[in-house]
Amino acid sequence: MVNVEEALQTILSHTPVLKREEVRLCSSLGRTLARDMVAGENLPPHDNSSMDGYALASSALREVSATHPAFLSVVGEARAGKPFRPRIRTDQAVRVMTGGVVPAGADAVVPTELVTIVDSRSIMLSQPVEAGQHIRRAGEDIVRGEVVLRAGQVLGPPHLGILASLGWKKVPVYKVPTVHILATGDELVPIGALPAEGQIRNSTSVMLEAYVSEAGAEPTALGIATDDKRKLRKKIQEGLNAHVLLITGGVSVGAYDFVGAVLAEIGVDVKFWKVNVKPGKPLLFGVLDDTLVFGLPGNPVSTCITFLRFVRPALYKMMGRVFDTALCFRAIIDHDIHKGDTRRQYLRGIVHQTDKEWHVRTTGSQSSGVLSSMAKANCLIMLPEDTRAVRAGEWVDIELL
Ligand code: AMP
Ligand code: MG
Repeated sequence: MVNVEEALQTILSHTPVLKREEVRLCSSLGRTLARDMVAGENLPPHDNSSMDGYALASSALREVSATHPAFLSVVGEARAGKPFRPRIRTDQAVRVMTGGVVPAGADAVVPTELVTIVDSRSIMLSQPVEAGQHIRRAGEDIVRGEVVLRAGQVLGPPHLGILASLGWKKVPVYKVPTVHILATGDELVPIGALPAEGQIRNSTSVMLEAYVSEAGAEPTALGIATDDKRKLRKKIQEGLNAHVLLITGGVSVGAYDFVGAVLAEIGVDVKFWKVNVKPGKPLLFGVLDDTLVFGLPGNPVSTCITFLRFVRPALYKMMGRVFDTALCFRAIIDHDIHKGDTRRQYLRGIVHQTDKEWHVRTTGSQSSGVLSSMAKANCLIMLPEDTRAVRAGEWVDIELL
């Protein structure tokens, strides 16, 4: 039996980073950037106004006041997208709109609200003007030559916006892993079927499909294999043409748990079986050629936890993600927990804020078959191997889901 860190390290050491591809910017949401992106231009490209107002030269206007007003002639207009070309003199102003290019000779903008309009061709100012006021400088956001986004960045809406503003219509990203999902168990029926006595619906395949999609990879559910060695072998062999094969159930020590044996027969190099974790102890991991094979425990909560702890990091690595986005912090546990064994435990919790502190409690029954404990949870509570019990009021480690 390996511990959680060894298991994860073993998995990641056999996980390749996938090749790159170019995709259209508009379909790159959630993908991971495969190259540092260097800005080819300044952003904004030119000095522009952050207000609707008047662009002018501040040099002669620093001492202006209500008793010493200044009068300027308005010589034109600079709308967004329509610059005013001539250089202006110190006794002139140009009406400018937000985003409009600041004309040559001007170094400040006075907002419309602070200007008295004398007539259609002149304005009066009665407040001092500071150089640079209400001007967004060229390159204030991004400077030409700067690395704007790094390889490994997961692309969210603002990143797409930056790439668009710099003119990238296509972006280099890592390819997306394909993930096959095979359920095993004589008791399982498809979700559309009516279970006979003793049967249950295959609920975890759809859940894994959702987790895989959410992680940014491409799931395909392969249906159900019965606990029959020959049939299981055939199904598993069919499922191996993906980057990752997830098999659920049949991986424990029951009389009909054949997954481990069949994988060995097929030639899958099993790197470990059983992890010192609860839930999720029967987890198996192996490799055949370029395919990672996970035997996930069949109990629904164990399936969730082992996916999140062990499969998702591998998918992230394949997709080139370098930044860990898990939000971990400490919270005060609201009740005693008896742990009693030396396994790493992940309990399903609800974290909430009371009197400035973060508090957490479990979601009720923590049996690995009780999926509602997972559905109610907004965090996992992590109890280390050497912890035997925690008392109400103690601090525990949590990870937001
Ligand atoms: P096993 O490891 O195959 O003995 O499965 C452990 C438990 O998980 C059993 O109660 C199974 O019925 C249940 N189980 C296994 N696979 C699934 C599945 N795909 N959907 C729902 N429950 C499952
Ligand atoms: Mg089974």
